[in-house]
Amino acid sequence: GANRFHPWSRRPPMERDDVPAAAGVLESFSLDGDAVLVTGGAGGIGAAYAEACAEAGGDVMLADIDADGAESTAAELAEAAGADVRAVACDVTDEDDVRDAVDATVDAFGGLDVTFANAGIGRLFDPVHSQDLEHWREVMAVNLDGVFLTTRESAAAMRADEGGRIVTTASVLGLVGTETPGLSAYVASKGGVVQFTRQAAVELGPDIRVNAIAPGWVHTGIGGGMMREDAPGMEPVQEQMRQETALGRLGYPADLKGLALFLASPASAYCTGAVYRNDGGYTTT
Ligand code: NAD
Repeated sequence: GANRFHPWSRRPPMERDDVPAAAGVLESFSLDGDAVLVTGGAGGIGAAYAEACAEAGGDVMLADIDADGAESTAAELAEAAGADVRAVACDVTDEDDVRDAVDATVDAFGGLDVTFANAGIGRLFDPVHSQDLEHWREVMAVNLDGVFLTTRESAAAMRADEGGRIVTTASVLGLVGTETPGLSAYVASKGGVVQFTRQAAVELGPDIRVNAIAPGWVHTGIGGGMMREDAPGMEPVQEQMRQETALGRLGYPADLKGLALFLASPASAYCTGAVYRNDGGYTTT
């Protein structure tokens, strides 16, 4: 069953009777026995993805540059979900680190089924006319090189196994610009994640599906804490964002769990190369 477009593919495209949701939609959301890798899993959005997968029966590896944070989050999630959740130190800008994190997941859980290429940084720098090149490269290295390396190394392991699912974390700022100056590197990096996701889906299908989640404003520690609910001086900005958001509030990491599980699981069997907004309706206006 070699596929004409994907000579390396180990299986032909799915037939009608093989569609997982056909046998029961709730079961198709199960990750029972699946191995999951989450980069940037120590906190924020990545920890919420990990929690969703652990609750759905997956074994989860948190890979983060913050090794202590990843360890303590892994222990918390393991306890709360009664799941096997572990941690590995990993800088996603480093090829060897990323390869080691994938290997550690395969060694721990016997394979790799799902990867969230999620680690990212974002900070206010200077406006475009004075944007510093070093800062620009720092953002690109984590947000774009990191997603590429995580996808590449995961795909290699998934191809050796039975295929898999990769979910990248883009941003609504990969789809639209923002009135806030100083985010050109971030916005460009996330636009890159969107386009990389589409191309990876074409090149890695049908064995591996690749989709992106584009969150709106989510209260996490990113950017030195400027997105937190109680960030000093940020209330006027947050109020304006709430006014521009159809659902009238900003997001919490747990708001991303449902979409994350959908894209990580067989429930999304016919979805690939797509970008899913999870932004309370912010980009509808
Ligand atoms: P966060 O800072 O809470 O979490 C990011 C995690 O990534 C941290 O645990 C951090 O230690 C880790 N990390 C940073 N650099 C790394 C590296 N080089 N290697 C490995 N790990 C690294 O932020 P978050 O908001 O949860 O961000 C997660 C993803 O969501 C990012 O890609 C971010 O751009 C994206 N995002 C966030 C928002 C938001 O509003 N918070 C909106 C859209 C997209």
